[in-house]
Amino acid sequence: MLNSWTLLISNLKNTKVFNQIRCASQVLPQLSSEKYNVRRKQFGNIQASDVDYFKTILSEDRVLTDENDILPFNIDWIKNCRGQSKLVLKPKSTEEVSHILRYCNEKRLAVCPQGGNTGLVGGSVPVFDEIVLSFMLMNKIISLDELSGALVCESGCVLENLDNYVRKRNLIMPLDLGAKGSCHIGGNVSTNAGGLRLLRYGNLHGSVLGVEAVKADGTVIDCLKTLKKDNTGYHLKHLFIGSEGTLGVVTKVAIHCPAMPKAVSLGFFGVKNFENVLRLYASAKSSLGEILSAFEMADNDSISSTVENLKLPNPISDYPFYVLVETSGSDETHDAEKLSRFLDKEMESGLIVDGTVTSEPGKMQTIWNLRESIAGAGLIDGYVFKYDVSVPLANYYSLVPLLRQKLGSKAVRVYGYGHVGDGNIHINVTVPKYDQEVCSMLEPYIFEEVAKLNGSISAEHGVGFRKPHYIHYSKDVTAIHLMKQLKQLMDPNGILNPYKVVPEV
Ligand SMILES: Cc1cc2nc3c(=O)[nH]c(=O)nc-3n(C[C@H](O)[C@H](O)[C@H](O)COP(=O)(O)OP(=O)(O)OC[C@H]3O[C@@H](n4cnc5c(N)ncnc54)[C@H](O)[C@@H]3O)c2cc1C
Repeated sequence: MLNSWTLLISNLKNTKVFNQIRCASQVLPQLSSEKYNVRRKQFGNIQASDVDYFKTILSEDRVLTDENDILPFNIDWIKNCRGQSKLVLKPKSTEEVSHILRYCNEKRLAVCPQGGNTGLVGGSVPVFDEIVLSFMLMNKIISLDELSGALVCESGCVLENLDNYVRKRNLIMPLDLGAKGSCHIGGNVSTNAGGLRLLRYGNLHGSVLGVEAVKADGTVIDCLKTLKKDNTGYHLKHLFIGSEGTLGVVTKVAIHCPAMPKAVSLGFFGVKNFENVLRLYASAKSSLGEILSAFEMADNDSISSTVENLKLPNPISDYPFYVLVETSGSDETHDAEKLSRFLDKEMESGLIVDGTVTSEPGKMQTIWNLRESIAGAGLIDGYVFKYDVSVPLANYYSLVPLLRQKLGSKAVRVYGYGHVGDGNIHINVTVPKYDQEVCSMLEPYIFEEVAKLNGSISAEHGVGFRKPHYIHYSKDVTAIHLMKQLKQLMDPNGILNPYKVVPEV
């Protein structure tokens, strides 16, 4: 029998949990340059005259030089990386971005573009004294075509704000992620963010209709079309999707918003073993078909980390694995019948051992909260080594037990959760504090294992600062060479997000 829903989970809103996690540790992380032994490249040093120049482009309050004001821009979300920037600029228009970059290019001043600073691979914060170019004030919605669903906005719009805006017009954003209350659409595009709706709506290479971007030399590239079909020449917008601010800076985005589903339901189930998780996925695909919009899994340690660290109660009993199934469709009766047939079948077969199903928005939010909070819950253990890999489904979970065995008591927890429908698992290893010995046990071991499985060492978070020297585990040497040629072409002085994405050797 399915448990009746009990409101065990308090009314925690996503943003509240997010901030709780963000403030988990007040200890300053070690400087990235020291921790990872990086040498500063030969960029210019910022002079007082440069700051004065920027004050002629931007108003004074948008040129930050005070150490305390700048500190949050220097530290990443998981508190792993810390840069040494002494200057943050907050443009309000593409024109201002263009002026800033042209000047920086001439003076060989390095720049780190920053959105909501929720990136998980150290790409969003400087390594040395790169100027932080923050998009937080470029947050205007420009237009929405309610019929086609084409939304055009500036890159600093917060994802959740956009979703709230389009929902009032019966549309939704095609992507959703745990960081939605802070991440920017420009950051999402620059990382080709995946998230919870990818199974249904595909990735951003499909839903981004156009971008406006600024090259390192200040040239504005206008690819801001809102057409679904446009085969005129090279598809240049794709250069900026997922290039993590190394080829250009995204200033505006045109994105396709699908119709808001009329009927949404969410189930949270206990499952006996991982083999049954895969069998349940196969069954959900065939039984639920077009209404299946998310299929997520979390192992026992993932959920217990949110229960123990964030005090979010688990609405069902203790199980080795948990599965979250979301359906979204246009006909409540039809969708409910389909879901009910699926549940009856799989409870009878034993694939679902226990669970809860709800269509009430507040209760669905609470379940999603539990799932989305896993990403940050481990930070409360001290330090988290995070790996975001994709592997063929048959081997989806195989790395977790392997790492548990390898690390033994050196880890507080080793757990896996993620987007089963996309073959994307997040593996987290928590320890009381950053430990070089544990790091050496994990890297490059985990990347070697992923390569053996023909997987990708970064499914959705990107390469950033943490993985350029491991990119060869997932990219052929010829592809890496072309990446370097593109970087040279678009940013010959290498001022855009140096030390990131493109490997040095
Ligand atoms: C709790 C939590 C859950 C998450 N869940 C997911 C998930 O499900 N799926 C997923 O894919 N990611 C997830 N992430 C990672 C992160 O939220 C995404 O990578 C997100 O897209 C980053 O957006 P941002 O605005 O915070 O970018 P930032 O972190 O500020 O920057 C990320 C990268 O993009 C570059 N950048 C930012 N803005 C621009 C711009 N306008 N132009 C050029 N370059 C730019 C930066 O230089 C950096 O390299 C999660 C993170 C957290 C903290």
